[in-house]
Amino acid sequence: MAENVYDLWGENNGPRNEIQTLLFTNARILDGTGEPPYTGEVEISGNRIKSINKQGGVGFNWNTNGAQRIDCRGMTLMPGLIDAHLHLSWNNSPGVNPINMMPPEEHILVCVEMAKLLLDSGFTAGRGAAAAKPRLDVVIRDAINAGRFPGPRYTAASPEITATGGLGDMTLPHIKDPGLNLGIPVSGPEEVRRTVRELLKWGVDTIKINLSGEELVSMGGEENQFSDEEIAMCVNETRQRGRTLSAHARSKESVKRCVKYGIEYIYHASYSDEETLDMLEEAKERHFVAPGLAWLINTARNAGEFGITPGTPLTLAYERELEHAIETMKKMHKRGIRILIGGDYGFAWTPHGTNAKDLEYFVDLLGFSPMEAIQAGTKYGGQIMGMGDELGMLKGGFLADLLLVDGDPLSDVRILQDKKRLVAIMKDGKFHKAPENNFGGLRMSA
Ligand SMILES: [Zn+2]
Repeated sequence: MAENVYDLWGENNGPRNEIQTLLFTNARILDGTGEPPYTGEVEISGNRIKSINKQGGVGFNWNTNGAQRIDCRGMTLMPGLIDAHLHLSWNNSPGVNPINMMPPEEHILVCVEMAKLLLDSGFTAGRGAAAAKPRLDVVIRDAINAGRFPGPRYTAASPEITATGGLGDMTLPHIKDPGLNLGIPVSGPEEVRRTVRELLKWGVDTIKINLSGEELVSMGGEENQFSDEEIAMCVNETRQRGRTLSAHARSKESVKRCVKYGIEYIYHASYSDEETLDMLEEAKERHFVAPGLAWLINTARNAGEFGITPGTPLTLAYERELEHAIETMKKMHKRGIRILIGGDYGFAWTPHGTNAKDLEYFVDLLGFSPMEAIQAGTKYGGQIMGMGDELGMLKGGFLADLLLVDGDPLSDVRILQDKKRLVAIMKDGKFHKAPENNFGGLRMSA
């Protein structure tokens, strides 16, 4: 008898799946290592890739008794995409307030919906970049892990910790209710300490701290917030519990502080100057940068119908930042600093489900080769998930998170934006989307 699996609510989800073997044959394998694609076979056993055989090698003599076999007909088999800056609780609304003001009961349903949308779009993992309310990321992470709802592998982020008056402090002089806030405003190291401890208690994997501003809300992207004492407190309290940190950091000073305090996940980094880049390059083994280009581009240019009109001071500020971000990212790329896809999706003008657009931006704006862009969304994604030795590439022993794509993403990365081209989506050895036609009876996830 196979042992039963119980979820975190104590419900019996039935017997653990028995190890099964599945063969993808006749695939054009784009493995994410940077090697050019090759024709071959991929053997899946349970939730992992057991082995990969290059055609012409010594393989092709597996005993396929009992194994399910999928003839890929020369389609591309590649690792699932990974979003380095993902907010499953951003609800595709036209602004920050509708995210904030949504009651938690509706909000967790939105997270369920967004999680499925991400997986439908070929994203099999994502790093949480901040939650709208303290437990949303935690609850959706656990529900996905328990197999209750389909979604990407997900690390749970805290809400943004912000300084009083900073990005995410939405209270008014006459309405101080903390429920108005997107972030959690704090002043002084002791308030930081208490807030971090509480958030860790609720089970987040990553503490998010806002170190710079944001044009759309409250203060400019080049303005800074928090004292050194407050940042040090945040980092120390997080580290001693073995958790990780990410920062909203647009200004050069905020990026320097990430390096100084070892905050590993740096979001935006648009205004980094040469001195900042030197520091970052020196510590590049430790840090990841996700510029969030989709947010800049679409807020500046494509949010007119939502009241953010191109040509106004706000959008001109974003145009200016975009220009800086592009130049900065090109320089970082030359220096070998890891730059990852993840565009801060989840607003009406950057809806979840369009996340693969980032690959196009990396190619068109940052001068990445298609292969480099794909690695920014696969290999390095595995690393930012803290799973670089088992996620983000197709290799023996790696987790079976993969996409079967009709077409060649190396000739045009935009193919990955077309859900119809994603013939199969597999996460953890199970199909979220199985190939149609003659592939009946395959293992399906929830
Ligand atoms: Zn964000």
